[in-house]
Amino acid sequence: MADVSRLPAPRASDWEWQLHGACRGLDSATFFHPENERGPSRARRERMAKEVCARCPVTEACLNWALQTREPYGVWGGRSTEERAQLIKVAEPA
Ligand code: SF4
Repeated sequence: MADVSRLPAPRASDWEWQLHGACRGLDSATFFHPENERGPSRARRERMAKEVCARCPVTEACLNWALQTREPYGVWGGRSTEERAQLIKVAEPA
C-alpha cells in the first residue's frame, strides 16, 4: 500500500484545479510509467505527457501540488519525477 502520510488533509479547494486539467479523461499510462520502463520508451512517453501539459491551463497549480506533496511518480505540471526532484533540491539545498 502506498504511503500517503505525506499528503495534506483532503480539501475540495486543493483539488479543484484538477477538474480543468488537459489530461482529464486521458489514459493515465501516458503520465505514469509502467514497471521497468527505461530508455527510449520512457523518453517517448514522457514527451507525450509533456505535450499535453504544455496546453494545460492549470500547469502551475499541478506542479505546485506535486512539489508540495513530494509526488514520487509521474509527469505533473510538465515535469518528470527527476525534474521535480531537481527543483526541490535547488529550492532546499542540504
Ligand atoms: S499540468 Fe499536465 S499532469 Fe497536470 S493537470 Fe495539466 S495536463 Fe494534467
